[in-house]
Amino acid sequence: MANPKLLILAGDGLGPEVMREARRVLDWLHKRRGISFDLEEDLVGGAAYEVHGVPLADSTMARAQAADAVLLGAVGGPKWDALPFALKPERGLLRLRKELQLFANLRPALCFDALAEASTLKYEVVAGLDVMIVRELTGGIYFGEPRGIETLPDGQRRGFNTQVYTTEEIRRVGRVAFELARKRKNRLCSMEKANVMESGVLWREEMTKLGAEEFPDVELSHMYADNGAMQLVRNPKQFDVIVTDNLFGDILSDEAGMLTGSLGMLPSASLGAADAQGRRKAMYEPVHGSAPDIAGRNVANPIATILSLSMALRYSFDLAREADRIEKAVSAVLAGGLRTADIMQPGKARVSTSTMGDAIVREMEQSLAAG
Ligand code: NAD
Repeated sequence: MANPKLLILAGDGLGPEVMREARRVLDWLHKRRGISFDLEEDLVGGAAYEVHGVPLADSTMARAQAADAVLLGAVGGPKWDALPFALKPERGLLRLRKELQLFANLRPALCFDALAEASTLKYEVVAGLDVMIVRELTGGIYFGEPRGIETLPDGQRRGFNTQVYTTEEIRRVGRVAFELARKRKNRLCSMEKANVMESGVLWREEMTKLGAEEFPDVELSHMYADNGAMQLVRNPKQFDVIVTDNLFGDILSDEAGMLTGSLGMLPSASLGAADAQGRRKAMYEPVHGSAPDIAGRNVANPIATILSLSMALRYSFDLAREADRIEKAVSAVLAGGLRTADIMQPGKARVSTSTMGDAIVREMEQSLAAG
């Protein structure tokens, strides 16, 4: 069988530095576990603009379409801030998401015990936390028409956007969330504002129907999104998988991510529709940006990117065992006291990007030795 295809787009700023460490994990998997990918590398963002005059070349888009998964670093930087909107680095990312039709955004909020002390919440509230937020990514109020700013007859201005969802848009993201719940603790909480929004009423009805028709074994609950925001800081461990729309998901996933500490720790996945073989287009990337303030100094935290790779192994390549191995290695390294600057705590050892990568690969090697 042909090797699965993985396209690596390191991007700008700290992208290439953190991607280098993810590559070392891939090298280790190849050498020590016999797991091979057809790896391709290409440019995105400012790096692509410098060479092609656009933030994503058509040839790169074609490679992404042909790949089984894309692993992306980060894009952007002050050098390209003054470019016209259509040429800005972020447009490269948006084009990828749009043309790959990635409608489901997965944001895990996973708290490694060793970092629970550093959370702004109490240790017992976040230690052992493992929640997955599934956000609808291509519909809702960010894309709905009509939208605009108009001038009224009395001279006032009026800004407006439209929250809109169709049955199919709700059901396809619902299906991703139900399937995830099945692989986890079998519990799904759907969040909307059905008390004040018709789109929320439809969302709740469709999730309920989908659950009854296709996932009767998954425990489904519903919550208003404002209550959900409160519950996430009060008792986040009550949740397993949360599914919500684009706007609420934007806010709730940032809130949940911060329960567990630094941006440098947060991975994400964006998934598209499944084909006849059940394979989905997919892009994996850290939540953080290109961090121009620290780029090029070997001080960035590579863990968000390494955990994004681990999500790719789990969700695109059916390699859950290796994904577990990576996550356990990260956990062990943190428990051993190594910290990059962004997660530094008193009494711990501050290390560079590459030393953190080294330590994670070393732990993976030890896990092999331990059987
Ligand atoms: P940012 O995420 O790049 O940085 C925010 C802060 O977090 C900075 O202080 C940075 O040093 C720190 N940080 C981020 N990642 C880190 C890591 N791995 N290790 C340690 N510290 C880390 O956000 P920003 O400063 O608002 O944006 C910088 C650039 O990135 C902008 O051009 C922006 O448009 C772009 N951006 C890109 C993406 C993306 O590629 N997905 C996302 C957000 C921002």
